[in-house]
Amino acid sequence: MDDTGLDRIAQFARQEIGPYLAAHPEDRYPLPLVRRLAQLGAFGAAVPTQHGGGDWSRRDIALIGYELGRGWQPLAGLVSTHLKLCRQVSEHGTPQQRERWLGAMARGESVFARAYHEQGIAHPAQLRTRAIRRGRVAVLDGRKSWVTNARNADRVLVIARSGNAAVGVLVDPGRPGVTIGPELPRPGLLGVSLAEIAFADYEFDPEDDVLGGWDHDLTQSLLANDVTSYTARAVGSADAVLEHAVRFVRDGLAHRSADVQGAIRLRMGELAAKVAVMRTVWHALLDPRPPADGTPPEAPNPPMTSAVAKVFCTATLQDVVREAATLCGGAGYAAADHALGRHYRDALALPIIGAPNDVLLSRIGERELGPVAADSHATTPTPTPATTSKAT
Ligand SMILES: Cc1cc2nc3c(=O)[nH]c(=O)nc-3n(C[C@H](O)[C@H](O)[C@H](O)COP(=O)(O)OP(=O)(O)OC[C@H]3O[C@@H](n4cnc5c(N)ncnc54)[C@H](O)[C@@H]3O)c2cc1C
Repeated sequence: MDDTGLDRIAQFARQEIGPYLAAHPEDRYPLPLVRRLAQLGAFGAAVPTQHGGGDWSRRDIALIGYELGRGWQPLAGLVSTHLKLCRQVSEHGTPQQRERWLGAMARGESVFARAYHEQGIAHPAQLRTRAIRRGRVAVLDGRKSWVTNARNADRVLVIARSGNAAVGVLVDPGRPGVTIGPELPRPGLLGVSLAEIAFADYEFDPEDDVLGGWDHDLTQSLLANDVTSYTARAVGSADAVLEHAVRFVRDGLAHRSADVQGAIRLRMGELAAKVAVMRTVWHALLDPRPPADGTPPEAPNPPMTSAVAKVFCTATLQDVVREAATLCGGAGYAAADHALGRHYRDALALPIIGAPNDVLLSRIGERELGPVAADSHATTPTPTPATTSKAT
């Protein structure tokens, strides 16, 4: 990537998003900001240069997430989903699909969304949405519970079962057979829509509209679960929140008694330390360093994984926004410039989306513990009537 591209996106995020939000309702689709990001090349960052993109490194793409996370999470979500889908089309698309879509995706003329999750589904093999071939055409039936940018995306990559494969169908949401549900009420991540999408006999071309062609299985790619973008977004938000709190608290510090100044400094130090560790974790993910020569074997330095970084940074962000709001007092909760409140509400979603932190932690624990030998003495507890009724 060229540094100036990233610099321009950083400048946009720091100078244009705040004034835009001050002048527009937070729950309105930010078309002017999306157009500016397209002009700045953000939508083409993960598209190869031969298709008109910037082919930016993984690190620089993460930095886009960081800058937009500083500014406004919904915009970061829209762009990072699109960039992941650029990679999917680039890696799995047929030559015709790459030719057809990547240029338009790079220019931001075709913004993509992804519809994978169905409530209660933990593995692609359990998906209930079906792609069924009927001679020369195929049809899609089912529903997806939460789709970011459902209302404004030009195409939605819908993950469905077809025989034993999890396939990706490129759906035009404006065609018959697609119903976009009402906006889902939520505390944050407003502006970019979030809705259920249902498919009833949606007809498509089984070769042209299935990523990689009919029966091309995406299971491995779905399970790979790179959650780097959520870490970048969390660190961006934490940096913005810390800066906000420092500015606000510093302004009023001189009027406080010496005792209170001391207490506030301590709390501010705690906040700054948490954000510093978040940044360190993120940098360890982006720039893994081999262990230094002579590292004693009893002090191994395992590489940072995207799962560990996501869990740590999105969870720590919850403390950071809460503690920053407390330090700013009434103005931390209610103020004309409610940037802190917005970060607070948006942050709540980050431990849940992508892959829930608890799911990632369970996998990390499983790796630590290794396979468990079957124990013939172990018994499966019989559910009591109370636990049975709770589960139903
Ligand atoms: C704002 C927002 C935007 C979204 N955008 C999209 C989108 O664009 N496209 C899309 O496809 N999806 C999207 N989603 C869906 C999102 O990715 C899922 O909600 C998320 O992956 C969690 O799945 P679930 O809701 O089915 O939770 P569940 O799988 O039901 O999990 C709920 C909780 O149960 C516990 N749990 C479940 N499984 C385990 C386990 N194995 N180990 C330990 N604990 C466990 C955890 O505490 C977990 O948080 C979005 C959701 C939100 C809220």
